[in-house]
Amino acid sequence: MTELTANSSATSAPVSRPNGESPRSSEHQEEDKISNPDDWGHQALIARPKIRLHAQELRHPASSSFFVLIPDLASVLDEALNNIVQSLYTSPKWPSPDRSMKSLYKDGPRFRPSMPPTRSVTVFLRDFGGVAYTRGIELDDDHKEIHLSLPYIQHCTSSKNSSPVHELHGVLTHELVHCYQHTTPPFAGDGGRKIPGPPGGLIEGIADFVRLKAGLAPPHWKKPQSAGERADKWDAGYEKTGYFLAWIEDVWAGRGAVGMVNDRLLRVGYLGEGEDDGDDKEEAQPGFWESLFGIGVADLWEEYGKWLDAGEDGSRDHEKARGNWEDEVVNPEA
Ligand SMILES: [Zn+2]
Repeated sequence: MTELTANSSATSAPVSRPNGESPRSSEHQEEDKISNPDDWGHQALIARPKIRLHAQELRHPASSSFFVLIPDLASVLDEALNNIVQSLYTSPKWPSPDRSMKSLYKDGPRFRPSMPPTRSVTVFLRDFGGVAYTRGIELDDDHKEIHLSLPYIQHCTSSKNSSPVHELHGVLTHELVHCYQHTTPPFAGDGGRKIPGPPGGLIEGIADFVRLKAGLAPPHWKKPQSAGERADKWDAGYEKTGYFLAWIEDVWAGRGAVGMVNDRLLRVGYLGEGEDDGDDKEEAQPGFWESLFGIGVADLWEEYGKWLDAGEDGSRDHEKARGNWEDEVVNPEA
């Protein structure tokens, strides 16, 4: 086994600095920094993580393919990080100019962006089945590992139907979301308090929502055209849930809605949606989705189906014209 490890230097320069703030020097995340707490509509400021590449199996033909397809991994991950900030950590300015007719948020969805303190991301090129996965290292969850399958890279280079560069950027974006999304509050488990985790399909759906919004949907994704083309359930995961989340954001609630979902997983947790809820569950407590959107997720799923079915008779022209739904789901490579 041959190993190559390359480091991309860590820097404290934020990826984005709204209002021209000067960069701060710190080894750690600059999370939860908003220029003015009352002035919603800003992005979380973040430090770029240390990026490492750990290439095993350099004799595997896909190893050299990877270096040709992705000559600058740090730039690709920086771009993905920018897309994550745009899609999950930007609270729109209010009053929102493009708010939905149906939105409960007269001033647009609002939250105070707070990113996880991810300090390093190491990409492993390894010979294993599947596509990719992400995990935190055992001793410190602030350090993440993205494992990318060499056989999958090889498959991408031999596929005639898709651009391998486009696909790899999409996969890396999806996996980087897992390095920067919230699942449960930091206090979950402390003091005997039990907070249930969200469905895995929601976590995967958020990752593919970001990929979709980044314009990196692969050709095999199929946006449903009718209620019958939806998945059986809202949390089927991946792009099936990703398109549903995009509809919530673009049609139902307005821009920033999925950021609010992610933010509530951090601040409250996935409470009020199942039998294995926290110990201190109160009877009249509204559920996770109802608290955010005034309606339960099952009803949201129904509304999504109705909206899809109304598509052919022109009754949703208003929403089409208002949002960027149609533009976003078009695969630029198709
Ligand atoms: Zn995933």
